[in-house]
Amino acid sequence: MSPPVCHWVQSVLAAYLAGELKPSTADAVRRHLARCDECRKYATELEETWNLLDEAPLPPVRPGFTERMMARVVEEKELRALEARMRPNRILRQVAASVLGVAAGLLIGLALYSWTGQLREPKSPIEREVSRSITFLEDADLLDEIAVIEAIDRLTGSTDRASGA
Ligand SMILES: [Zn+2]
Repeated sequence: MSPPVCHWVQSVLAAYLAGELKPSTADAVRRHLARCDECRKYATELEETWNLLDEAPLPPVRPGFTERMMARVVEEKELRALEARMRPNRILRQVAASVLGVAAGLLIGLALYSWTGQLREPKSPIEREVSRSITFLEDADLLDEIAVIEAIDRLTGSTDRASGA
């Protein structure tokens, strides 16, 4: 039966060997180890186990790990390139948005003229422009929703640009 002090020493041995004990505690452990065979034996075993663990080779990486990793990186790159290709041309979208903005402005103009009863026949240049814009808006179905959303943003964001055109 080992005395309580041995239990204490053995409970702090790992920290002692790792040099994590404060100096006074480390001294107490060192003094005990000097006169206690059982604890010294325990300390030696612990140290040997640690050394074995330090020397043990790292678990081998499964064969083909690097290749699989690289393949995944390439996959991700290709996926991103594909996404970029599928995105409609940014400049085209902006052009469409500004045209839509002009068209909407003209539509507002037409509505105002219609309310005042000044435009009945497609005779004035403004009304011809508006009918062309309406044709364009019908064609705009071909554009993606984002262009329309951007046009709406443009109209709500800067109304003077739409009406000033
Ligand atoms: Zn002891």
